[in-house]
Amino acid sequence: MNEGVVTRAAPGTNAYDVIVIGAGAGGIYAVHRIAERGMTVLGLERAPDVGGVWYHNRYPGARVDVEAYHYCFLDPDLYAKWTWTERYPSQPEILSYLRFAADEYGIRPFYRFSTWMTGATWDPAAGHYVVRTDDGATYTCRFLIMATGQLSRSRTPSFAGLETFEGRWVQTSEWPDEEVAVDGQRVGVFGTGSSGVQVIPQLAKRAARLTVFQRTANFSVPAQNGPVDAEKYAAIAGDVDAEWRTMRASPIASDVPLPTANAADLSPAEQRAELEACWARGGHSMNAVFADQARDYAANTLVADFVRAKVRDVLDDPKRADVLLPTEYPIGSRRLCVDTGYYEAYNRDNVEIVNLKTDPVERITPRGVLTRSGREHELDLIVFALGFDAFTGALAGANIRNEKGQSPTDLWSRGPRTYLGLMTHGFPNLFLLTGAGSPSVLANMILGNMQHVDFVTDLIAHMDAHGFHEVDATIDAEDDWGREVEAAASDLIRLEVDNYMVHVNVDDGSRVFIPYAGGFHRYVAHCERVVAEGYTGFAFS
Ligand code: NAP
Repeated sequence: MNEGVVTRAAPGTNAYDVIVIGAGAGGIYAVHRIAERGMTVLGLERAPDVGGVWYHNRYPGARVDVEAYHYCFLDPDLYAKWTWTERYPSQPEILSYLRFAADEYGIRPFYRFSTWMTGATWDPAAGHYVVRTDDGATYTCRFLIMATGQLSRSRTPSFAGLETFEGRWVQTSEWPDEEVAVDGQRVGVFGTGSSGVQVIPQLAKRAARLTVFQRTANFSVPAQNGPVDAEKYAAIAGDVDAEWRTMRASPIASDVPLPTANAADLSPAEQRAELEACWARGGHSMNAVFADQARDYAANTLVADFVRAKVRDVLDDPKRADVLLPTEYPIGSRRLCVDTGYYEAYNRDNVEIVNLKTDPVERITPRGVLTRSGREHELDLIVFALGFDAFTGALAGANIRNEKGQSPTDLWSRGPRTYLGLMTHGFPNLFLLTGAGSPSVLANMILGNMQHVDFVTDLIAHMDAHGFHEVDATIDAEDDWGREVEAAASDLIRLEVDNYMVHVNVDDGSRVFIPYAGGFHRYVAHCERVVAEGYTGFAFS
């Protein structure tokens, strides 16, 4: 994939204006925008092709839970040239889309694929980062853009005895390119988060026997997937710029209708009607039945009880329902899963669930999984869907150092510190896309990436226009933004429940909500104010 790389470095050098790490949606769009400005740019990507998480998460059943109309670049040059088949497209279709976007933007020649950045160090005298890669090469760049995503560094399994297992094991987040034998096999799955609930129904159909090892039950709701509405798609294609303006004014950068009424404002019959309507609409609509369900326990309980009752209706065995239905935390306080036939899978004779809360894993054996009760579950294949080292994992693994030898995550021991999620003080010319302190995973990530890349490329243009070489977030701006992020999440039920969006300080139990929960619309407005006021909070030199 590296043949014909158009490095576009200054002749005879490895010096670039910008290096972009990652070739997911953010990386593709960043390289496109920077190349469009005529700057020299190099992309580095560990996979052999574009796609990012959609390259690696190619497990059976993988699909997005944001509707396709907005899970793509709102770019008039691309929108009408593409058509989606489903409202919630599957991984192969999303990967095809990202390949299409990469080709349309002509960005592949700027990338070195199958190349891992092993470190980057800021050289203050030269005013550039020195970037090292696993093939021994060294590059320099004035600006370094981390388009590495928030859910890209997998949590790897560390079960005792795994090395003795004589079958095969795989991870959903690093699903192999080649066919994984499932048909007629005895398969075990660990993990019942968004990835687990997607892979389980697919494996259930093909495996001779499927054993799900569940630690914490999750709320999951049906996507109610279906074909894309061609008329709606065409209408958006007719004025893509207007749609982008509409999305910038949306709290989640998609068009899930949002409620204005609190639960208590409605009669029981009206509440029921809203619950049924959201259930029928499917997907994350169940997060948006009542305006106060993320902040008010009584409103939240109405939604949780409704979902539990719906799931009980699906399940043939009430004892299984007791294991599968969460009761110990409010709905939406851990990310709501969206599925296609998840609970239905447990009505099959070949599917078993093991409750690890009552029968934990003792160890993995050569033949399968031994649990404390003494039962050995014999398996040919184990699928781990254990999630990610979210928000900080990819950044920590990137080994970026400032002039004091610190990495950003060295300074984040009490929770991430950023200005607008885009920069962290002490790391000049380093930009983070869709990271901690931005709406990030609380909004549509493709549009979040677009907005961030546009902001960064405009900022670089501003610097060039004024002859500035370096930019850093000021410590005051970072502190102020930290307070904004804290205030936006202060009354969220989600802050009180352990989940990957909350950083907990072990010494005093204080909790830091990692993404900005004030809404994409407010965040965008804030960024626009910062620009209008001459990039307040950024120090240029
Ligand atoms: P996740 O939500 O973090 O779930 C990980 C699962 O693994 C949990 O059930 C967890 O149990 C379990 N687990 C972890 N360590 C374990 C252990 N040692 N023993 C047993 N079980 C263990 O990860 P994910 O499902 O990959 O999803 C992560 C995020 O990726 C989602 O929230 C979403 O943002 C994104 N995603 C989106 C989609 C989509 O668009 N539809 C699909 C997949 C992923 P505990 O809860 O007890 O820790």
